[in-house]
Amino acid sequence: GHLPEDTTVRELLQAAYDQHRHVVDGAVATYIPQLAQADPTSCAASVASVAGRAFEVGDVDARFSIQSVSKPFVLALVVEAVGGERARNLLGANATGLPFDSVMAVELHDHRTMNPMVNAGAIATTSLVPEIAAARGHHGGACEDWDVVIDGLSAFAGRRLDVDEDVYACESGTNLRNRGIAHLVHSHGRLHCDPDLATDLYTRQCSVSVDVHDLAVMAATLADGGVNPLTGERVVSARTCSEVLAVMATAGLYELSGDWLWEVGLPGKSGVSGAVVTVAPGKGGLAVWSPPLDAAGNSVRGGLVTRTLSRSMGLNVFASA
Ligand code: GLN
Repeated sequence: GHLPEDTTVRELLQAAYDQHRHVVDGAVATYIPQLAQADPTSCAASVASVAGRAFEVGDVDARFSIQSVSKPFVLALVVEAVGGERARNLLGANATGLPFDSVMAVELHDHRTMNPMVNAGAIATTSLVPEIAAARGHHGGACEDWDVVIDGLSAFAGRRLDVDEDVYACESGTNLRNRGIAHLVHSHGRLHCDPDLATDLYTRQCSVSVDVHDLAVMAATLADGGVNPLTGERVVSARTCSEVLAVMATAGLYELSGDWLWEVGLPGKSGVSGAVVTVAPGKGGLAVWSPPLDAAGNSVRGGLVTRTLSRSMGLNVFASA
């Protein structure tokens, strides 16, 4: 199966956007000014196919910080570098059923509650980045560590991505809880570099600036077995993609991941800026951005537009027809 033909995708995307863009529900994140000042009426959506076609609707020129949508892509880089079995042993793969910033996600019955889609597991994931840089012959430099992350995220997007330095500065001033989580993970022997270094790298990866088209292409690269369908570059292996998608399914929407699978039937990942990406394996990637969030920190319109698109394009992986 493939996505419907181009004209149909364009129509269905416009229809899903028109159906939900005026929904007034949820609240924008307020913990840093850049997110608090987001226009709650903003909405954009994009579909990118594994055939290399991309379609956008709404506020398509808006840039926003990637936030937790970075998690599956950094995980993919780490799985690719250290191997799936080692990554699963170190980072976990089971649902936490817990909020993204949960401290309990570290404490409950050892590593079986760690998951790279919530902060504890995501910071542990990022703590393996210095090991990747070292394996490439770069030792002990924060810049080299960062290059691994930004080069990898850029390859997923098919263009050079950059950090929003204002977001990074504000996030750095407010990330005490994440630093605490990193030290707690470290106390369990489950962090792989200095905890403050890991938190800083993680904070920087969350501050990367993207638009909705970038995110759809990144999702389409996971859908395309690790080959960016617009540039043709192989970013990670097909096996890495399937393993990352499994982890997204377990916790990509945090404590509401079961409801998401029920309604959308595809692996997804949300972030606190209001972005959500969804992967239809072998078909394409979806991305929606709309800042108002539900109580779990997932974009309200993002969920609605994605659910409508999954149904209208017949993407639910659990559906038999
Ligand atoms: N930077 C945020 C944090 O780690 C990202 C969280 C999110 O997008 N849910 O707290």
